[in-house]
Amino acid sequence: MEFDAVGPEKIIEVYNPKIGMHGFVVIDNTALGPGKGGIRMTGNVTSNEVARLARAMTWKCALADLPFGGAKAGIIADAQQISKGHKEDMIIAFANAIKIVVPDLYVAGPDISTTMEEMRIFAETIGDLSACTGKPAQMGGIPHEVGTTGYGVFLATKQACEFLAMDLKNKKIAIEGYGNVGSFAGKFLTQAGAILTDVSDKGGLIHDPNGLSHDKLMDAIAHKGSVVYYPNANVLPNDAILDAEVDILITAAIPDRIKAKDVEKIKAKLIVEGSNIPISLEVEKILHEKGIWVVPDFIANAGGVISSYIEYIHGTEKEAFQRIEKTIPKNTLKIFEQSNAQGRVPREIALELAQEKILKACKTCRYL
Ligand code: NAD
Repeated sequence: MEFDAVGPEKIIEVYNPKIGMHGFVVIDNTALGPGKGGIRMTGNVTSNEVARLARAMTWKCALADLPFGGAKAGIIADAQQISKGHKEDMIIAFANAIKIVVPDLYVAGPDISTTMEEMRIFAETIGDLSACTGKPAQMGGIPHEVGTTGYGVFLATKQACEFLAMDLKNKKIAIEGYGNVGSFAGKFLTQAGAILTDVSDKGGLIHDPNGLSHDKLMDAIAHKGSVVYYPNANVLPNDAILDAEVDILITAAIPDRIKAKDVEKIKAKLIVEGSNIPISLEVEKILHEKGIWVVPDFIANAGGVISSYIEYIHGTEKEAFQRIEKTIPKNTLKIFEQSNAQGRVPREIALELAQEKILKACKTCRYL
């Protein structure tokens, strides 16, 4: 794990042998406010991955002008392989174990394999509605299931297309991962006339050059658990998403999805990072040299944390969507324009802006 002028401030590792719960919270930086970030539940999550995600949250909140710092949590468990009851026990054990920092230094939220149901359990265990966001509406929450992150990814894609003078209509799109983020991005993109030719999830990749139907994809997931059960699907390994003959590639699943060795395969002219940390700065530089534009994760997928902030201040779902509309296209355009003017990758520009803001806040922060 790397330490620098920004953080991480706190790394907490927790373990409950009775439940088999083993997890981490990394609070990267709290100069702008309590550390904000979701709880990821995957079989291979590590403290290092959580720290990198926490740092991405620090940049994301700063760039979205939110009074939140950056944090993230992870529980090592394959949510698809455990029972509903065991998953609930894991969340309860995790919440009890990290109570000491919630909500003053860490405010949780949903992430891979955690939803409004886990947020309900988490808030009830902590005994404080401010413990997390993405809660069910009955608890005063704005669940991420309303699609705020995917909507922001769609807006970032639309704005990037306008900047690149690409008409989104009839553009071929591939989406890696069709969970919360990927499916809502797919819904809004197809509504805007884009053609969804390639979609992957944990089960594999499906491809149809004439376009896949978002509704049929959702049916396959709802009834059988994966996009590979799409009617008459031509199923390929999910890694093949990188070879897709598309104009736009949206990442919405795993970290480090595109590595240097993959750059040769990419046909898309635009990549929008719906997922967190899918591409390193070094690899984005190689992509940029090849003429491929990338909207960085902390710009493109900020919709979730913007909606979290609106929930945190007791605003409405409508206000969340409005704030996303005000923030994400503006930031996408700003970063692309500066990138174009300076001949540098968008991520580098965005990082500098975020870093400047955080380091200034650190100087005036009483506690750091
Ligand atoms: P999710 O659990 O709802 O969906 C994850 C999807 O990825 C599923 O379709 C799963 O089958 C698929 N997947 C898993 N392994 C895969 C693989 N090897 N190849 C292709 N697909 C694979 O998770 P989510 O909430 O949609 O999060 C996805 C990404 O977006 C994560 O990086 C997360 O950190 C990021 N993100 C989520 C939110 C949010 O509001 N949920 C906000 C910001 C960023």
